[in-house]
Amino acid sequence: MTHVVDGNAVANRIRDDLRNCVDALEDEGVTPGLATVLMSEDAASETYVSMKQRACEDLGIEGIHRELDPDAPADELLEIVAAMNEDPDVHGVLVQMPVPDHVDRAAVLRSVDPRKDVDGFHPENVGRLVAGNPRFKPCTPHGIQKLLEAADVDTEGKHAVVVGRSDIVGKPMANLLIQKAPGGNATTTVCHSRTADLGAKTREADIVIAAAGYPELIDGSMIDEGATVIDVGVNRVDADTEKGYELVGDVEFESAKEKADVITPVPGGVGPMTIAMLLYNTVAAASNQADVPVELP
Ligand code: NAD
Repeated sequence: MTHVVDGNAVANRIRDDLRNCVDALEDEGVTPGLATVLMSEDAASETYVSMKQRACEDLGIEGIHRELDPDAPADELLEIVAAMNEDPDVHGVLVQMPVPDHVDRAAVLRSVDPRKDVDGFHPENVGRLVAGNPRFKPCTPHGIQKLLEAADVDTEGKHAVVVGRSDIVGKPMANLLIQKAPGGNATTTVCHSRTADLGAKTREADIVIAAAGYPELIDGSMIDEGATVIDVGVNRVDADTEKGYELVGDVEFESAKEKADVITPVPGGVGPMTIAMLLYNTVAAASNQADVPVELP
């Protein structure tokens, strides 16, 4: 029987443990604070930010939110981030991506105090991750590590194939998998849009992590018998539903499930983990900045 991993259940367990951490911080007079900035009218970005803020509220984390007109000058965004960096009640700062074209994305990522960079995208934190000394692990790949752990999938000595090389999923995922650390020690291949014969690569994998952003790119014929399949993709495809679309992953679930021993669904797999790990990083940031140790899950 294939194990279909329940990402909501794993995320809820982590959130329950984090609630205890928040209570322990509160006992020492520290309320973790997460500041978010949105400079976009994109509906998906608005939804993501409000989900993050709601999740904070639910855990007792103080949410601070600022919105900027997408036509505002870039300096205005940088000034807001600078003020959040200085605010002792703010332990985590997150600028929702994407930012408008006239704003230099790299400059925005550099503007966040690395100690408050709960997304883990500041170049200092990227460097620390690559060097094997992560301060904040980026939320989605960190969540995938937790999902693998919860599903009893040991990565050590396995061949992991990551499909996608983005800065937010593919690259940090591959970096975590090759670390000499728990959840790492995997022999790791990274595939991308220029990879020739993707199926030949994925068929060699004990663990496939699909993060291409291409609907149902990977089907059962590309999966080895008994493999673990983690589907990161969230793709809107036209459908005869009330909204006119439905969400599908990068994996063709039914055919892949026939082959896999362990598989994550979309929705309800990786998605809930991303927000849980953002809360994790925020609690870790508060604990570090206030110098109050807590036992993170
Ligand atoms: P991205 O577009 O930045 O990167 C996609 C990567 O996939 C690129 O590196 C590209 O080279 C590779 N790729 C594209 N087409 C390919 C193909 N045909 N074969 C092989 N490789 C191919 O996307 P991203 O930000 O990394 O996100 C990937 C997917 O994961 C998206 O669907 C996104 O919505 C989803 N996502 C989900 C979560 C979550 O929490 N569930 C979080 C982040 C991203």
